[in-house]
Order: sequence, then C-alpha cells, then structure tokens
Amino acid sequence: MLRTVILAASRSSRIERLVETAPFSRDVVRRFVAGAQSADALRVTRELVGDGRAVTLDNLGEDTVTPAQATATRDEYVTLLGMLAEAGLTPAAEVSVKLSALGQSFDEQLAYDNARAICAAADAAGTTVTLDMEDHTTTDSTLDILTKLRKDFPSTGAVLQAYLRRTESDCRDLAVAGSRVRLCKGAYSEPESVAYQAAREVDKSYVRCLNILMSGDGYPMLATHDPRLIAIGEDRARWFDRGADRFEFQMLYGIRPEEQARLVGEGYTVRTYVPYGDDWYGYLMRRLAERPANLAFFARAVASRK
Ligand SMILES: Cc1cc2nc3c(=O)[nH]c(=O)nc-3n(C[C@H](O)[C@H](O)[C@H](O)COP(=O)(O)OP(=O)(O)OC[C@H]3O[C@@H](n4cnc5c(N)ncnc54)[C@H](O)[C@@H]3O)c2cc1C
Repeated sequence: MLRTVILAASRSSRIERLVETAPFSRDVVRRFVAGAQSADALRVTRELVGDGRAVTLDNLGEDTVTPAQATATRDEYVTLLGMLAEAGLTPAAEVSVKLSALGQSFDEQLAYDNARAICAAADAAGTTVTLDMEDHTTTDSTLDILTKLRKDFPSTGAVLQAYLRRTESDCRDLAVAGSRVRLCKGAYSEPESVAYQAAREVDKSYVRCLNILMSGDGYPMLATHDPRLIAIGEDRARWFDRGADRFEFQMLYGIRPEEQARLVGEGYTVRTYVPYGDDWYGYLMRRLAERPANLAFFARAVASRK
C-alpha cells in the first residue's frame, strides 16, 4: 500500500517540485546520490575503488522527451567514460544506462544509436555498459536492442527483474557464454498479469532465476540487499565453484555499506551502483518505496530541517 502511494508520488510533478525545493532534500539525497556533476561521480568512484569495490555509474535521468535531451545524455556518458579512463578507474568502473533516457519511448532507433555510441566509448575506455531495465512495457524493446548491441559489444550487460513472470525464461535465454546478466527483484509498480505481487513469490522467483544463472555459462550479477538471497548466492557460488572473477554481487550506493565491505572482505567482487546528476527525484522515490526504513530516514531529515 505504502509502496503504491510512494510510486504514485514518484510520477507526480507537483510532489516532485515540493520535494526538490524542500530544504531537507539535500541531506537525504546525498546519502543515495554521489552529487550533481561528473566530478562528484569520479570522486565517489575513486573512494569506492580504493575500498576494493567495483562501480557502475548511472547518470540520472528518465522521461526524456526530445532528441536533444537524448543526445545530451549520450554525450554525458561518453565524456564520463573518457574521464574514468583518464583517471585510471576503468575497468573497475563501468556505466549503467537507461534506454528511456536515450529516447526509447519516442524513437527506438535513436535510443539504439545513442546506446551504441556509449558502448563504443566504453570499449575504447576498456570497460563495459549495462542496460538498466525499466517497466515491463519496455522489456522486449530493451532485450532487442541488447541483442543488436551484443553483436559488436558482446560484454554489454542486461538486467532481468525477478518479479516478472517471464524472467525465468529470459534467464534461460541469457545464461550463455560471455553474457553479463544483472538479476534484481524489480523496482516498478507492475500489474498482476505480468508480475508476482507477493514479496514471497518474488523472492522464490529470484532464487529460481539465480539458480539458472549461476548454473549457466554467463556472468551473473546478483543485485540485492536481501540477506537471505545474498546467503543463497554465496551458497551457489561454492556449489558451482564460481570464484570472484565468475560472478559478482551488486548493491546501491548508500545501502548496506557494511554488508558491501563484508563481502569484499570475504573475497567476492562487489559492484556499487552509483547514481549522479540533477535528476534524482524518480530514483530517490523508488528507493523510498522499497523500504520503510528509508522513509523513516527521510522523515527524520524533514523533522530536523537541516
Ligand atoms: C545494483 C542494482 C541495480 C539495480 N538495477 C535495477 C534495474 O535496472 N531495474 C529495476 O527495476 N530495479 C533495479 N534495481 C532495484 C531492485 O529491483 C530492487 O528494487 C532493490 O534492489 C530492492 O530490492 P532488494 O533485493 O534489495 O530487496 P528488498 O526487498 O528491498 O529488501 C530485502 C531485505 O534487504 C535488507 N535491506 C534492504 N535495504 C536495506 C537497508 N537500507 N539497510 C539494511 N537492510 C536492508 C532488509 O533485510 C530487507 O528486508 C537495482 C538494484 C541494485 C542493487
């Protein structure tokens, strides 16, 4: 219920304006977002890589409605990749890209062309790209674009969402040699016709998908903060004899940093997903919807009015 309300708020421009201009927002945002500029992204990446983490950087931005916005996002990624290479932060750092920010909703070819330019820049920088997955109406289009991109850039990563009923089948298709697949629970509000609604069902689906990926030939990227799923991931890594170079854990910046450090200490590869940029509203609202404790954190910040 609370999740539905917050996800609805994430689509309200009135609430967006209210939150963006509120004095407390800066402190809340800082916990989950590296900062507004690529220099902030670089600073946080350097710190995390220094702590033994791998990183994936997300330039925040959704709901792109003009070709000019899409091209600006492409250029931002290309510039960022050049900066990462120059700073010696590749291949530890890669980038995560939302096709919606590259024009997918109004011109699929444009989104493909922009994504291709980013993949070429990543390749030149010695690193990779992962295509974030958005709501279920975009899944087929995103997987089609992924297939095309992989012809020239085979290391381009996909994201599959365990809450979708189709995902077990998608996992089977993508558990092939050279294929990088991030498995997450899924962050959007989806109808029952396409997605499991009960948390228990989503978790069971996650385990089935994890089993397919970990027993397959690809490179699984287990994106979750859930202690039970992380323990199952560790168990399957032992069972399928997957060392630190054959799969990774992924978590979001600002969430369970101690658990991220523990896993690094255990010798696992841990990649932190680091968002940066001005357009943080939708991202922050999805984080709040996921976990009441994040909402309490937000409420405390409101109360203290720092
Ligand atoms: C690297 C990464 C990339 C992602 N990319 C996408 C994407 O492309 N598309 C998409 O739809 N979604 C994406 N997501 C979001 C994902 O789908 C989930 O919405 C999000 O990760 C929350 O699910 P969870 O597996 O962490 O479990 P949850 O159900 O949120 O949490 C499970 C348990 O984890 C523990 N936990 C969670 N948060 C905390 C915390 N702050 N402190 C302490 N314990 C905590 C608690 O025990 C909690 O009960 C991504 C997530 C990650 C980590």
